[in-house]
Amino acid sequence: MNDQASSAVALHRNLIDGRDTAASDGALLDVLSPIDGLLFARIASGTAEDVDAAVKAARAAYEGAWSRLTATERGRLLIKLAAAVEGDAETLAALESRDNGKPLRQSRADVTALARYFEYYGSAADKLHGEVIPYLNTHFIGVERVPHGVTGHIIPWNYPMQIFGRSVGAALAAGNATVVKPAEDASLTILRVAALAREVGFPEGALNIVTGLGRIAGAALAAHPGIDFLSFTGSPETGTMVQTAAAKNHVGVTLELGGKSAQVVFDDADLERALPALVNAIIQNGGQTCSAGSRLLIQRGIFKDVVDAVAERFRALRAGRPDREPDLGPMINQAQQRRVQAYLERAKNEGLTVAAAGGIASDAPAGGYYVAPTFFAPVAHESVLSQEEVFGPVLVATPFEDEAEAVRLANGTAYGLAAGVWTRDAMRSTRVARAMRVGQVFVNCYGAGGGVELPFGGFGRSGHGREKGFEGLVEFTTTRTLVIAHG
Ligand code: NAD
Repeated sequence: MNDQASSAVALHRNLIDGRDTAASDGALLDVLSPIDGLLFARIASGTAEDVDAAVKAARAAYEGAWSRLTATERGRLLIKLAAAVEGDAETLAALESRDNGKPLRQSRADVTALARYFEYYGSAADKLHGEVIPYLNTHFIGVERVPHGVTGHIIPWNYPMQIFGRSVGAALAAGNATVVKPAEDASLTILRVAALAREVGFPEGALNIVTGLGRIAGAALAAHPGIDFLSFTGSPETGTMVQTAAAKNHVGVTLELGGKSAQVVFDDADLERALPALVNAIIQNGGQTCSAGSRLLIQRGIFKDVVDAVAERFRALRAGRPDREPDLGPMINQAQQRRVQAYLERAKNEGLTVAAAGGIASDAPAGGYYVAPTFFAPVAHESVLSQEEVFGPVLVATPFEDEAEAVRLANGTAYGLAAGVWTRDAMRSTRVARAMRVGQVFVNCYGAGGGVELPFGGFGRSGHGREKGFEGLVEFTTTRTLVIAHG
């Protein structure tokens, strides 16, 4: 494994061309745990030179050992990796909770989803068929699906394992060689999984990891002329920079960005079923989820009752240390904690009503980055809290009169990632679901527990392109058309 167990502060190096490699200038970044703010590891602060070495190693693999494998052999390697991940589940989960702060149950769920991604894409690798097109009787036309070549993957900190699985798993299954830049705040599980990949026999250079700062290692990867396709998950602002860099090299990019997703609650909804899901959708992962249900749109006749019921649940919520299975863990870092607190201050200064707030567990370490979950109601649709992604445990509720208004409000932000619809009226649920300008709609439920098999992605400021499911595999390919004259 890529760490030094003997030292109190573990050192983690990059994986380039199958070898553990220090940053070219030897620089390191401190890794603080969000649980207590204490230093517990150091990672390589990757440089443009490191990225260049990783891209060259990936190119050599792509033109060499990796491309010589059949699709079935690539798939088998991914399925072996899935088994290795499952075998290492408890260690990976504990490491993720330490590095990222998420409750252990969430880290375990992330490990399960990661293994499922490898299994799903591994078993799909040899089912990626091309097609034959009818044309002149004298010609045979075949369209084959081919990998892009060397793909770059820039990963955020909120679900490192899941996003690594869906993006890198699909890219490898399709036959690409990969260079990955994990988020500086959550690199450790990705490094560990990469070490497992080496152990199960992935050829050198097929999977390279360069850790470090976004503005250095991330920017170098996005701009590298040796990259044939980019997958970026993160904030809209960074997404713009990554897409601009990709445009300069004329390569494609998948952007999986933020969200301000609405849950629409009609007055005939099954509230017993809805209430836990309405709360969980903003509390899961401390609200640091791109598809968090951060806006409740509630039909006016039941507005007060639903707000009261959600408020009661909010008051019972506690943020705490991951090993105590709290409702939510700390925010990822101090900057994120301060960002969420600034939104709360601003909302209060603007006179928004706090309907309820949860608390911070009494045994949460003082140096950790905890924030009490807060629920505001009623909140105007135009307010900052209704329009901007907070990326924390902050929920707002807005009343609506009728179906037309519900649709207008739900679609009324710059984002378009996910939505929830709660009603017992089957015709209405389908009508409203199909009017949502988002990549995923949930009817009488919310969230898909990873949703490995389900295409996912956004409209507008939530990005473009799709990951997950078979659609996500196709994204990591392009086509080659063969025109063969025979008569
Ligand atoms: P971020 O954009 O700050 O960072 C994401 C990644 O980009 C990190 O690896 C970072 O190091 C890298 N990066 C930073 N600056 C860069 C640059 N100049 N060039 C290249 N790479 C750079 O985002 P974050 O704070 O880690 O994640 C939070 C955001 O991600 C939220 O907006 C959230 O909604 C979004 N997100 C979206 C999805 C999705 O699937 N749609 C999933 C998770 C998170």
